[in-house]
Amino acid sequence: MQFIDLHAQRARIETEVNTAIANVLAHGMFVMGPEVREFEAQMAAFSGAKHALGCANGTDALALPLMAWGLRPGDAVFCPSFTFCATAEVVPWLGAEPVFVEILPDTFNMDPAHLEACIEAVIAEGRLTPKVIIAVDLFGQSADHPAMRRIADKYGLKLIADSAQGFGTTLDGKHPSDWADIVTTSFFPAKPLGCYGDGGAVVTNDDELAELLDSIRIHGKVTPSDLKDQTFEHDPKYFNMRIGMNSRLDSIQAAILIEKLKIFPDEIELRNNVADRYAEGLKGSVLSVPGTPENVVSVWAQYVIDHENRDGLQAHLKSQGVPSAVYYPVPMHVNGAYARYTAGAGDLKVTEAKMATVLALPMHPYLSEEDQDKVIEAVRSFNG
Ligand SMILES: *Cc1c(COP(=O)(O)O)cnc(C)c1O
Repeated sequence: MQFIDLHAQRARIETEVNTAIANVLAHGMFVMGPEVREFEAQMAAFSGAKHALGCANGTDALALPLMAWGLRPGDAVFCPSFTFCATAEVVPWLGAEPVFVEILPDTFNMDPAHLEACIEAVIAEGRLTPKVIIAVDLFGQSADHPAMRRIADKYGLKLIADSAQGFGTTLDGKHPSDWADIVTTSFFPAKPLGCYGDGGAVVTNDDELAELLDSIRIHGKVTPSDLKDQTFEHDPKYFNMRIGMNSRLDSIQAAILIEKLKIFPDEIELRNNVADRYAEGLKGSVLSVPGTPENVVSVWAQYVIDHENRDGLQAHLKSQGVPSAVYYPVPMHVNGAYARYTAGAGDLKVTEAKMATVLALPMHPYLSEEDQDKVIEAVRSFNG
């Protein structure tokens, strides 16, 4: 049994993917080729949003809007401590500081009440200026974006949905882009929608921001707005109106993603079937199974349970041939280079309790019922 089985998916779409790759090799437009535009249009349509732009990875996807908004030293960005490091990593790139916020114990997502307390605390202290909220759709399920939006509006902040694990999740049938100024995602192979290498994207309804991001991802190239009422003596392609970066999605990866997006809705359903069977089978045997609000559809990047004797359970599962993983053993506010930043407003008690109890079980769309039962049996037979 595998923790995440990428081969099973590959077997399903092998012919289509091989043809798609061969097409790119044949036309040779490896960077910003036609597949990139095609995939971006499909991704925007999937999200019900106006714009989707590919980039090199999910970390750059987070950095791009921070660059577009001109973040600088003295600015504060609020994000959960319980997340993958990339969420916070991009903030010091621009000299700004992350402020770490508590999560809710049932959904693992940012606690809106604590977020507001952190913003108030930063304002009261007066050292930093609140600028951006990064709400993470952790383990595949939408954060409380309606609440995040209300708080962002109240304090005049920008809102990013870091949906690297949650792309495809919905709340009241709507994607996070309905509330967030921008949604960012990663196509790292193990993410719910992954490619065959590194890749990422941003999704937004903001026309101006989309134009700016398209420029920043290609070295700050001129945009149609830059060219308005301007004449250049040579090819404007080589005018760079702002400091940008090189962050593009490869044509080959876009071609692969076009094929993967076709089966993605079906895969989300398959993941939910696995999650439902886990929830049913594990009831009463662990501290908690993941809580998903009624109005949220998760894409189940991870299926994370809590157990008082997490390490004992993990060893037992291993002895039964069941792989598992700990996300995250070291939250950001106590993590190496990040421990110097503010853990906002009091202790992060839920986060610190979770780091000791969380365990992720095998989860992917092609996990057989037989394997699911084996996982459930293995958890239930642990008496530690
Ligand atoms: C994976 C991940 C990222 C970064 O994505 P990369 O493509 O690996 O750069 C950012 N945020 C979260 C929450 C992630 O899980």
